[in-house]
Amino acid sequence: MRKVSFSQLMTYIRCPEHWLFQYNLGIRRNPKKILKHGFALHEVFAYHFTEKKKDGKGIKPGEAKEFFADVFLSALDDYKQELEAMRPYLTKEYLAKERQVDINDLLDRGMRGIDAYFKRLNSLIIPDLVEEPFEFQASKNVLVKGRLDLTHINGTIHELKTTRKSPNMQDIRSDPQLAIYQLGYHSIKGKYPVALSKDYIVLGKSDAKITRFKVARPFADKNTVLRNINAIVKATESGIFYCMHPAESWFCSKGWCGYYTLHQELKKLGIERFLAKYSRSGPRRS
Ligand code: SF4
Repeated sequence: MRKVSFSQLMTYIRCPEHWLFQYNLGIRRNPKKILKHGFALHEVFAYHFTEKKKDGKGIKPGEAKEFFADVFLSALDDYKQELEAMRPYLTKEYLAKERQVDINDLLDRGMRGIDAYFKRLNSLIIPDLVEEPFEFQASKNVLVKGRLDLTHINGTIHELKTTRKSPNMQDIRSDPQLAIYQLGYHSIKGKYPVALSKDYIVLGKSDAKITRFKVARPFADKNTVLRNINAIVKATESGIFYCMHPAESWFCSKGWCGYYTLHQELKKLGIERFLAKYSRSGPRRS
């Protein structure tokens, strides 16, 4: 039985080359302060809603901020080590961009984000599932495993995101992440969720606000979702790893993508010679 995680699937959906580097070759090259920041906020709300599920209240904003600062600062210690290990492989543009990211600014934005969340959203959510693991069969031979961050007792799936700029209006019915979550929810509850809510904390320069995109009566075309999952698994087994961004894009730039140098090398060598050089049994590993 092939087991595939929710994060692996999302990695392939965002960039198949990332899957190749990260999961096939075991090479990690994306140390980012902003990822540690997102991780720390995620931990704060996971803890808060776990407590709220037990006592109906959870933690107070002041405690949440303290917890956030502790988790973020300790995650930054890991970040420093990861950055040192990966430094020789990262572009100077990537390193320059990371240097510009100010830790105090991130701390302030995180604190304001916590305040905004507690003011606007907290009272609206009565937690049911918090960090709940799920698994379902995508086919006879493929098992999908993941975790639902948060659901409301009324059957709404909440997906929390942080961002710096107000997100554009979006139709979250076609969001691949939420489509998989709907099947995950069904595998736990035996029924589909009644609504989906993508909750953004917009961490602006001097203020923070909440933007939500909500869909009542969501609809997951189960067969299409399963077919897509199986197609991804098959593609990874058949060595299909391509660049999603043939045109200039911020995602695929020297300043953003930690895999940029590998990406160039793959383009130059072609997949077979590249794999011969980097595969686990190959002559060189980073
Ligand atoms: S350079 Fe672009 S295609 Fe290559 S790994 Fe990075 S984001 Fe993906």
